[in-house]
Amino acid sequence: MNSLSENIETIYDRIARAARRAGREPGDIRLIAVTKTVSVEMIRRAMEAGLRVFGENRVQEAQTKVNSDQLKVKGEKISWHLIGHLQRNKAKYAVRLFELIHSIDSDELAEEINSNAAKINKVQDVLIEVKLSPEETKHGVSPHRLNELSASVGLLKNLNLRGLMTVPPFFADPEDARPFFRELRDLRDRAEAMGFSLPELSMGMSNDFEVAIEEGATMVRVGSAIFGERK
Ligand SMILES: *Cc1c(COP(=O)(O)O)cnc(C)c1O
Repeated sequence: MNSLSENIETIYDRIARAARRAGREPGDIRLIAVTKTVSVEMIRRAMEAGLRVFGENRVQEAQTKVNSDQLKVKGEKISWHLIGHLQRNKAKYAVRLFELIHSIDSDELAEEINSNAAKINKVQDVLIEVKLSPEETKHGVSPHRLNELSASVGLLKNLNLRGLMTVPPFFADPEDARPFFRELRDLRDRAEAMGFSLPELSMGMSNDFEVAIEEGATMVRVGSAIFGERK
């Protein structure tokens, strides 16, 4: 088993090579280290190895980590992203915890986040999650409702819509995920042609982040390739 810092170095290297293959700048891709089920001690070590952006998929789990004294280092700002599905009744916590919420998938959720952000005078950065996979377990708005949802999110004063996110099905061969990443980018390009601004594409995980970068990802969400397999 490799050390954490070796894993991280390897991921950065693979990100850089995938970016160059696609004629992109490595610095244009942000690594979000996915820390669900990962201990605070391990996250602290990841910070010491240079990571600053962490992704969690549950509000409650994130809360203990965000508030942990072990992760408060003088002069170092770390940021937390919510990458998992958000229930409306957790929106009031989410706006306090997360710099970016990747998983807006309905008008109702957008409105709930907006009103809770307003209460703390925050403009909350968000992404819309698009469901491109037929699997029951996947969340997101369907592609034909994307422009409608983008328009209504755009009207909410305490939300700042930054882009799109998707989770394709798991494939043993990452090439099989490519059409899903391409579809998200195409949807973004078409929405931008209609006047929306959606610079960020959050797509790609441990098994397929290089393919996602080749297809335009600006954020990759990588967990097990950094921290090891989850139990
Ligand atoms: C768990 C998770 C990831 C990271 O998955 P790995 O395969 O461990 O890299 C990325 N995105 C979401 C939404 C997740 O829930």
